[in-house]
Amino acid sequence: MSVDPAVELPFFYGSISRSDAEQHLKLAGMADGLFLLRQCLRSLGGYVLSVVWNLEFHHYTIEKQLNGTFCIPGGKPHCGPAELCEFYNKDPDGLVCTLRKPCLRPPEMQIKTGVFDKMRENMLREYVKQTWNLEGEEIENAIISQAPQLEKLIATTAHEKMPWYHGQINRLEGERRLYCGAQPDGKFLVRDKNEQGSFALSLVYGKTVYHYQVIQDKSGKLSVPEGTKFDTIWQLVEYLKMKPDGLVTSLGEACVNSAAAEKTPSLPRTRGEVRGNGYTPPPRAFPGPSVASASVPVDRDVLPMDCAGFNPYHNPNDIKRFNIEREKLLMDEVELGSGNFGCVKKGVLKMESGHVDVAVKVLKSENEKGVREEMMREAEIMHQLDNPFIVRMLGLCNAENLMLVMEMAAAGPLNKFLTSNKDTVTMENIVNLMHQVSMGMKYLEEKNFVHRDLAARNVLLVTKQFAKISDFGLSKALGADDNYYKARTAGKWPLKWYAPECINYHKFSSKSDVWSFGVTMWEAFSYGGKPYKKMKGPEVMRFIENNNRMDCPAACPERMYTVMKECWTFSHEERPDFKKVEESMRSYHYSISAKAKTDETAAAANPTN
Ligand code: ADP
Ligand code: MG
Repeated sequence: MSVDPAVELPFFYGSISRSDAEQHLKLAGMADGLFLLRQCLRSLGGYVLSVVWNLEFHHYTIEKQLNGTFCIPGGKPHCGPAELCEFYNKDPDGLVCTLRKPCLRPPEMQIKTGVFDKMRENMLREYVKQTWNLEGEEIENAIISQAPQLEKLIATTAHEKMPWYHGQINRLEGERRLYCGAQPDGKFLVRDKNEQGSFALSLVYGKTVYHYQVIQDKSGKLSVPEGTKFDTIWQLVEYLKMKPDGLVTSLGEACVNSAAAEKTPSLPRTRGEVRGNGYTPPPRAFPGPSVASASVPVDRDVLPMDCAGFNPYHNPNDIKRFNIEREKLLMDEVELGSGNFGCVKKGVLKMESGHVDVAVKVLKSENEKGVREEMMREAEIMHQLDNPFIVRMLGLCNAENLMLVMEMAAAGPLNKFLTSNKDTVTMENIVNLMHQVSMGMKYLEEKNFVHRDLAARNVLLVTKQFAKISDFGLSKALGADDNYYKARTAGKWPLKWYAPECINYHKFSSKSDVWSFGVTMWEAFSYGGKPYKKMKGPEVMRFIENNNRMDCPAACPERMYTVMKECWTFSHEERPDFKKVEESMRSYHYSISAKAKTDETAAAANPTN
């Protein structure tokens, strides 16, 4: 989950009001330069700095900029709230004085979480569960891999879970509900104003109900007439609880929508969305119930969870099978790829839940026995794996040939996809995909499997936004007490993807897969480029031994190149594991998605830019 960068600061109080802040400063003695930091209720990600000078309070808004930096309007940008406070500790730079003494949070006092912070986790979980019908581990996978996208989705629908939200009722009904029971000043409710998706606020003051229109500007920001603008209605409501901002009074107790309290959480509904219009569901990639894929709203990308292959074992009758009867399998002539074992063909598997597209690895019949055994071993490995970011095996079919039946990843190998779609695939898209690969690899690391052939050619795409690791031809399951596999002899190895210890000592571990992950990242961020250009394997080995590494690909973000270089740490003991790599990928993925979100808003606000 996105963590507030200020939680580490002992003078950060979270989502407290201005008057609470002033109360804390009073209790701490009102010395000049005494200060504290709190969450800004107006802008997501912003803060307020409250400072004492001359027995008076001064409150400075700190805005989060589009590029992720923080600044007090008119002041210098800083990379985080801590850095900002440190700066103003030395230089007033326009403030009434320097920040001299932090007003520390009492030891027993927790940081006050905002309304949305509290609800976010639960809402994400509920949302994913309801929307994609996922359970347990799959919910976690969905959330971790797509948190920024999901947060964006729920941010616009969070109010539907709020007790003060009454949905589509008219003005009169609003009044009727407010006049029910006690009528303290500030008792309020929010209702839909009309079908177009704007809101109205109804509020009691002096036993009379006042109605206000909530205005939406061109960029979608909401406010009461002449009031402060917010991204979402629930933020506006929280703010109006603190400050009337032009209303006859500030908001007080919610007029509770008793119908909403009982109803099951509603599914996300994008305001103004046209359902089932113009959206073609992605090709079904794998058996499973027809959840989700039929109802992706028109205004968002297809998420991995929209594809049935995310969570296939829903129907107990479709539970993993190992032996597939020949008559259940229809083979197509279309060849998806080939290798020395034979070729991979398109096929259709008849299952309880319907016909599904599959990829079938067909062993050439004239192959010697060893190759057949290799394929059996590959199947044995795949059979033990179950993760959305790993190609699933459906079973083996032993007929005219030995056939390994897998779920279909229709968009094919990552390197080829990127080479031929350079113009349409964004850097954020690649970060999302590589984060998914790191999640799949973290799963392998936890299960104690080594892949030994991780490369962009073996990352297959279900859709542009959904990657799966494939090709377990060289993979090994490690014993419970082993942390590496020792190859007796060197084979036809992908040397450019191999860590020094693989080549020098034939030792393969999750850490050597991490090295390969670095090379795979390099391939991805160079849009399917060939690593180490024209160098041959042994040359690459010398290059690495001499402490050289590949350069940062042209359009690759610096932080992603840093991860690559960490993956290429010579000593496997010092190299990060996938647990660490996945964390790095996740934090970068989340940070740029948040930025993309603010950029979008800015672009909408300034259409000429
Ligand atoms: P090899 O060991 O020869 O590299 P792979 O398992 O990588 O065998 O498969 C070879 C090619 O077949 C892949 O590069 C890809 O184009 C295609 N292929 C393999 N599995 C699938 C799948 N599940 N869905 C779609 N295409 C696949
Ligand atoms: Mg391959």
